[in-house]
Amino acid sequence: MLTSLAQAVYLVAALLFVLSLAGLSTQETARRGNLAGMAGMGLALLATVLLAADVSERPVPVTLLLIAMALAIGAVVGTWRARHVEMTQMPEMIAILHSFVGLAAVLVGYNSFLTGEPDAVHLVEVFLGVLIGAVTFTGSVVAYLKLSGRIRSAPLALPGRNLLNLAALVVCAGLLAWFLAAPSVLPLALMTVVALALGWHLVAAIGGGDMPVVVSMLNSYSGWAAAAAGFMLGNDLLIVVGALVGSSGAILSYLMCRAMNRSFVSVILGGYGTEGGTTPAAGAGEQGEHRETTAAEVAEMLRTARSVVITPGYGMAVAKAQYPVAELTSRLRAQGVDVRFAVHPVAGRLPGHMNVLLAEAKVPYDIVLEMDEIDDDLAATDVVLVIGANDTVNPAALDDPSSPIAGMPVLEVWKAKQVVVFKRSMATGYAGVQNPLFFGENTVMLFGDAKDQVERILAAVPVG
Ligand code: NDP
Repeated sequence: MLTSLAQAVYLVAALLFVLSLAGLSTQETARRGNLAGMAGMGLALLATVLLAADVSERPVPVTLLLIAMALAIGAVVGTWRARHVEMTQMPEMIAILHSFVGLAAVLVGYNSFLTGEPDAVHLVEVFLGVLIGAVTFTGSVVAYLKLSGRIRSAPLALPGRNLLNLAALVVCAGLLAWFLAAPSVLPLALMTVVALALGWHLVAAIGGGDMPVVVSMLNSYSGWAAAAAGFMLGNDLLIVVGALVGSSGAILSYLMCRAMNRSFVSVILGGYGTEGGTTPAAGAGEQGEHRETTAAEVAEMLRTARSVVITPGYGMAVAKAQYPVAELTSRLRAQGVDVRFAVHPVAGRLPGHMNVLLAEAKVPYDIVLEMDEIDDDLAATDVVLVIGANDTVNPAALDDPSSPIAGMPVLEVWKAKQVVVFKRSMATGYAGVQNPLFFGENTVMLFGDAKDQVERILAAVPVG
């Protein structure tokens, strides 16, 4: 009875997850999408508890107590982390959360093998679940270490690295044959070791420039790991949710690759992108004279402008400048200036990073445009304010075939009449390459923390 009730609730939860994804596809409906997802997850948890109480061999109160303890520990740790994490640390937090999904799939796999029936279908499920889980686990740990700057983000270039990956897969295929012929923990454990090394190597070989794709690719892997766990546990909802996460992560990876003009295969095979951080790459020194400006001069420039485009980047997130930026936008609009935002697909450190920050500061959605929606209008723009963006407005991506970001489509802000770049120094962006934009004739640099500088400009721009 409880089991069939739980199955019915699972169905409703699955529908809510689909509605959630549909809602998340536009900014206007994203809040509703999140609510649908939360409701779905609440129902799914409830049904899982019912199911566990129904099928468990232990007395019901003991089962419920064990679940309550696990939930309490998870909720305390989760709430504590969510309250303390900075928006700029979200990518690394997501990476480490993906690693938990991978680890869970590995543990479920071992549990399922040790307690389940040794029939061939189940053995294949266990083997694949552990394989995907182990690759996701170490891959996500490496992504976490790279994104948080704990290890260098430069690609690890082992000799014959593609052959090494291929060899790992061939060895795993051989171990699967052994596992099916004579089911035991030994081939499973050997495969786990190989898969852990494969996940580590796969992501270690990918350079800083490709990290946006890696984050979404690991998101996809974590979905497939969850789906595999669903097969092992015979849990339909986990299969559906895993497949939703796996396929949406794969679609996102594809979109990110397209945005960066990279092929998915070459991202996976790695070796692209340079050291992240602020050290200029070799030969990336100063490329001429740059001109500095002041907040008062920029305020004057904005006073006479008819059209303004703001291109936010990672620095806006670091400075938390989105609030004064939103205020500046509303004051300029009140004076009849046409203000719009140009958001590059990989601006910041997370897909959608800038959109989230701007929505948080209540910037109207209809003036936040994607790169291809605004690129054609940049030439007719009076002033472009580049607020903490660097790689995503770097003309070297188009002009310099030897640049580590060569081929990445960028916002062609230099076509505007006047460009103001807000940053603290002449340091490079994430990809470690110098930006010729800063030395352009129509570019001026406004050095300092982006939030402080926008607040100074605000002081000189009248309200209403
Ligand atoms: P970048 O990372 O290229 O540059 C950010 C700039 O912000 C820096 O040049 C820095 O200069 C400046 N900055 C930092 N702090 C402040 C501050 N407090 N006030 C003012 N400026 C500040 O930014 P973009 O957004 O243009 O590019 C994103 C990069 O990150 C791309 O290379 C992308 O591939 C990569 N990436 C993107 C991911 C995604 O999913 N979106 C994921 C992982 C990587 P200074 O130090 O001089 O102030």
